[in-house]
Amino acid sequence: MSLLRITEIFHSLQGESNTVGIPTVFIRLTGCPLRCVYCDTAYAFTGGKKIEIAEIIAQSEQYGTRYITVTGGEPLAQSACLELMTKLLDKGYFVSLETSGAIDISAVDPRVVKVMDIKTPGSGESGKNLYQNIDYLDTKDQIKFVIGNDEDYAWSKAALTEYELAGRCEILFSPVMGQQNPAELAEKILQDRLPVRFQIQLHKLLWDDAQGK
Ligand code: SF4
Repeated sequence: MSLLRITEIFHSLQGESNTVGIPTVFIRLTGCPLRCVYCDTAYAFTGGKKIEIAEIIAQSEQYGTRYITVTGGEPLAQSACLELMTKLLDKGYFVSLETSGAIDISAVDPRVVKVMDIKTPGSGESGKNLYQNIDYLDTKDQIKFVIGNDEDYAWSKAALTEYELAGRCEILFSPVMGQQNPAELAEKILQDRLPVRFQIQLHKLLWDDAQGK
């Protein structure tokens, strides 16, 4: 039986992506090879507890929602994450994956809704983007740009064109809270007629924390 190192399993409202506001179980896997300067889940870099996949699923079932988000850290840093997601899908759950974009996603079960970052320069980790991952995204998936300043915005806008992202999947532009003024970002998106969805993390507005409560 496969084991995964888990930081927490909890129930909250989805704070971002196109299922925002839906009650969701979050399975947060421990560990991440990146160190984004704005990271709000550094507590998941280390520690955690090794739990069998069957037990993770049993814990997730108790909340009575069909929506499960596998997150981190970087969940794909643990290879058994692939098995967990497939088993959840086989049980009829709607499974989404939040991933940094720095790890190969080609082996992820195609039924998983992938929410993949493309790291902007302001994260300090844009050199780790694996652009070949874009080939494994389709219309149900999402790419997220977290924007902290004008340079990040210009860079993200250029990436839309360079990687022909419009139409491949939904594109999310999200401000770094406390750093990028959300209204200014919204104005720029409108002014430049960008084919993206602006989002503010709901959980930050409601509870001012990393994800959920
Ligand atoms: S990829 Fe996510 S978890 Fe890892 S350092 Fe960056 S923001 Fe934090």
